[in-house]
Amino acid sequence: MEELVSLCKRRGFIFQGSEIYGGLQGFYDYGPLGVELKNNIKAAWWRSNVYERDDMEGLDASIIMHRQVLRHSGHEATFSDPMIDNRKNNKRYRLDHLVKDQKADVIDNVYKILSHYQIYVDGEKSSNDRFAYSITFLVQNPKIASEVLKQAGVRDPFSGEVGDWTEPKPFNMMFKTTIGPVADDESYGYLRPETAQGIFTNFKNVVDSTSRRLPFGIAQIGKAFRNEITPRNFIFRVRELEQMEIEFFCTPGTDEEWHEHWLEKRLSWWEAQGVPRSKIEILDVPKEDLAHYSKRTYDLMYDYPTLGHEEIEGIANRSDYDLGSHTKNQSELGLVANVEENLDSIAKLTIPHPETNKPVVPFVIEPSAGVDRALLAVLSEAFTKETLENGNERIVLKLRPHLAPIKVAVIPLARNKAELVELARSIKNDLQKLGLGRILLEDSGNIGKAYRRHDEVGTPYCVTVDFDTVGKGDDATLTDTVTVRDRDTLAQERVKISELTAYLQAKLK
Ligand code: ATP
Repeated sequence: MEELVSLCKRRGFIFQGSEIYGGLQGFYDYGPLGVELKNNIKAAWWRSNVYERDDMEGLDASIIMHRQVLRHSGHEATFSDPMIDNRKNNKRYRLDHLVKDQKADVIDNVYKILSHYQIYVDGEKSSNDRFAYSITFLVQNPKIASEVLKQAGVRDPFSGEVGDWTEPKPFNMMFKTTIGPVADDESYGYLRPETAQGIFTNFKNVVDSTSRRLPFGIAQIGKAFRNEITPRNFIFRVRELEQMEIEFFCTPGTDEEWHEHWLEKRLSWWEAQGVPRSKIEILDVPKEDLAHYSKRTYDLMYDYPTLGHEEIEGIANRSDYDLGSHTKNQSELGLVANVEENLDSIAKLTIPHPETNKPVVPFVIEPSAGVDRALLAVLSEAFTKETLENGNERIVLKLRPHLAPIKVAVIPLARNKAELVELARSIKNDLQKLGLGRILLEDSGNIGKAYRRHDEVGTPYCVTVDFDTVGKGDDATLTDTVTVRDRDTLAQERVKISELTAYLQAKLK
């Protein structure tokens, strides 16, 4: 995992959020290659779940939502984690001596040790341009906290005081924000903690505008926000995340069958992204651990390097809980789920039953996957270290071509030979028009370095324009041909320029 994290930074996949001010825990920025990989994962999901089916619609709802939405969804009351804090010691400890010269590395290390022990650390900039950290302890035993902080090099961590621990209390993980210029008790909303609620609140709009009948689904990809108490493990647990969610609406009684359908579909989608079934355990979540809305949930637990089996996707049978919670006239609708009374909604969230035509509140199957966790899994599977025949080691990302951030790098052998560079540029432009994704003109000048770089970022093919290509080499028969190098086999083939687009199109399909 550590090597992967370092590659992500070195090659421009992922950076710590707000890094030049010491970083903000739980927030990450996706760099030039990260954004491409992320977009490709999202596009693959959208293609498979919207375009390749006949029973799906798409949606992009707003992130900030009316507080009533998150109240009636149950999030205000239940979307919380237990937190224990140490009242007396809940004050600021200065870590500036650690930060002064070494910055991010040392802070990362401190953070790693602290978060391992579930100690919550939140960094913020203090007035004199150094860093102060407010620390809330989440460990049962203050002695452990004390020991760990000492290990991490924090001066005088407890100022001699120990104790006064509270009972665990629920900490609501939603980000609340004021809306408009007046900050009063009424003018606030929430950043959505899941994209799902935007789908439920638009159920009627989508049905009315598309004339959909049961069964059908609505898909959405977008940001969600959770004020995680201990964000950790790189992009695995973050506070600003992205989700790919489907709410699939079906007739009550057919829900269990659809649940199995989606489990199967989702596993085969992961497989197509290079995340094999053999690395995913299906957890049939025990009744006592189910979320408040769930009749049954399968958690897909991917075997992450270092972390072990952790949730990459949840596939929940949400019964009629959500539409039942957000609808008006609840008592007339024969709801199965146990919902709170709703006197605020102005919409009746029903659809005609396919057989009786009577209004019914459908059941919902929800496959919900995290984009960040998907990206981490895809990278983990692709990351490969190989020893070459000459004994050298190479790092290569064996990404499926449809996910690769750069599809083809076109490399002029010498960057100071205008003829080579111009031909490379024109080949690049032609390839770019094929709509395969990003094609890069790589004119850094050193072919060996360029190959190494493109192995490390997973570029499936490198196309090299050399002196033979322009008829100025030793072999006249090679005029108007280029070298195509295959990332995985390292095979190099001479291909006619006139046949290059067809050649690469077939390879990258
Ligand atoms: P966990 O138990 O790991 O906190 P969860 O059960 O709360 O996850 P869900 O509410 O089911 O997660 O969210 C659906 C998906 O969203 C998860 O499977 C995961 O891929 C992603 N996800 C949830 N929380 C985070 C987070 N803090 N950071 C990154 N991804 C997340």
